[in-house]
Amino acid sequence: MNRKTTAIVLAAGQGKRMQSKVHKQYLLIKDKPVLYYALQAFENSFIDDIVLVVGKDEEEYCQKEIVDKYGFTKIRTIVEGGKERYHSVAYGIKAIEWNCDYIFIHDGARPFINEEILGRAFEQVQKSKACVVGMPVKDTVKIADTAGFVESTPNRARVWQIQTPQVFEAELIKSAYERLLTEEVQLLSSGVVITDDAMVVEYFTKLPVKLVEGSYQNIKITTPEDLEIAGVFLEK
Ligand code: C5P
Repeated sequence: MNRKTTAIVLAAGQGKRMQSKVHKQYLLIKDKPVLYYALQAFENSFIDDIVLVVGKDEEEYCQKEIVDKYGFTKIRTIVEGGKERYHSVAYGIKAIEWNCDYIFIHDGARPFINEEILGRAFEQVQKSKACVVGMPVKDTVKIADTAGFVESTPNRARVWQIQTPQVFEAELIKSAYERLLTEEVQLLSSGVVITDDAMVVEYFTKLPVKLVEGSYQNIKITTPEDLEIAGVFLEK
């Protein structure tokens, strides 16, 4: 059966840790904006449609400087994001007004997503309805207490660092995000910080989220040295 897939590509972050006036998704790696690479990977893949989520008043700029300039054909709509990443995801989900069975949520600041990873995630989501891409950590991880002392050391073999895409059955992620928006105030006041999409599913459904192998190259461009590393990866 031909299942319809939509990717939400997030590019509405401020990128404060980059310490640059230009938002990190528009900085260049090898003459092309960071955001170009993820969009190109989705454009070349089996994904049917793309929602691009951008910063306030950046829709026109993105249409001209990214979509038209590089000739992307799968971007069905460009919408404005919100204050937190999860707001941007919620607005992206709301914008999907077409037939869609699975939603791939991806950080536009991760240029090294590829068809192989997308394929693995797609295969998995059709079995388990929810999956996230990640890799086992290489370093030992410590849980710190509020005073900065080691509280515990989880078994490294079971600790994963989480990447994107995070992939879900469309109705599942739509209803989980609807609940997040209605219960946002209570959740935040209880000290929960929502940093990825799997967390929304973990909080509001009983469905287990499967981990799928991504790659150690699927980095998020966050600080200036990440740009240098990305340049090296592209040389290969
Ligand atoms: O801030 P962080 O690096 O975790 O952002 C991950 C991705 O989410 C980036 O691609 C960023 O542009 C996006 N984002 C967003 N809206 C926000 C915050 C982040 O679209 N309010």
